Amino acid sequence: MNLEKAAKTLGWKPFRLKQVWHARENELKTSWSELTNLPKTEREFLSEQVPFDSLSIVVSQTSEEGAAIKWLLKAQDGHLIETVLLIHSGDKKAWGTVCVSSQVGCPMRCAFCATGQMGLTRNLTSDEILDQFLIAKREAKSRGITGNLNVVFMGMGEPLLNLESVIPAIKVLIDPKRHGLSPSRVTVSTSGILPGLEKLRAEKLGIGLALSLHAPTDELRSKLMPANTAYPLAGLMAHLRKWEKEGVEILYEYILIEEVNDRIEDAEALAKLLKGRNAKVNLIPLNPVPNSALKRPSKNRMHRFLEIMEKAGIAVTLRHTKGDDIQAACGQLKTKNS
Ligand code: SF4
Repeated sequence: MNLEKAAKTLGWKPFRLKQVWHARENELKTSWSELTNLPKTEREFLSEQVPFDSLSIVVSQTSEEGAAIKWLLKAQDGHLIETVLLIHSGDKKAWGTVCVSSQVGCPMRCAFCATGQMGLTRNLTSDEILDQFLIAKREAKSRGITGNLNVVFMGMGEPLLNLESVIPAIKVLIDPKRHGLSPSRVTVSTSGILPGLEKLRAEKLGIGLALSLHAPTDELRSKLMPANTAYPLAGLMAHLRKWEKEGVEILYEYILIEEVNDRIEDAEALAKLLKGRNAKVNLIPLNPVPNSALKRPSKNRMHRFLEIMEKAGIAVTLRHTKGDDIQAACGQLKTKNS
């Protein structure tokens, strides 16, 4: 039984449910027994009938430098997913980015991605998406980080293939009476599912958007990302203009792969594709993926790519990869037992 069903069974008035949400999401209580404003009989009923969290922590790993924490989480039906918290240290204060999964596995089969090798098992529920955030929020609080959290839908899965759970989860994240995140702190990343983009845009949530681009031409992109065959670049880029017109700066993620998409002509084609757009490019060195011959380029090749983009006047950063040692970096999430 989930909380909403239990609330009906117990005949709760709406304020009671709001109290429980507040205790879980803001006071960060971790068990029913801590909710002492509920009658004892109700706490006992809830302890027996409703798991406090929809996910339980199986393993928690911290990267050597402590800047990345990865959790292997188990759903009620035994399926496993992964969630990552990245800690960023600024001059004055630290902040965190929570990378949440939206599916168990992923059906998109991108060539450079460990999750894509798994295939899709099932969609996550909105409770399961929100509880990933909650687990990370508790950890962040234990490290003194409160209120400075971003959420990126860049974990396992293609979020736009699970909008029935992703949209309600985002609404709870940005609801001032629930988690209260500023919408600009939430970013959905997609491989480019055009109907999903239309649907998400229609919600007018004010959130950020990232496109996993990884190649500047249809020919190359279709080889790396089968999704491109169904939704080629021309249609996608035309659609993204609509987001830009609404003031959204699109983040383009580009994983650099040696001799595949890191050549001079690739950088020039990428610069041409993005010229004059409200775009920011995040270059990501490929992370090693098991059973794949794809390689991370040398530093020289990556810097050459970066320079070509900079000279063309494109806003671009080359990401320092956090959490490689615990396979928490982009494209590395893969559960061994699901
Ligand atoms: S990169 Fe994203 S969309 Fe592609 S297979 Fe991996 S999880 Fe799925």
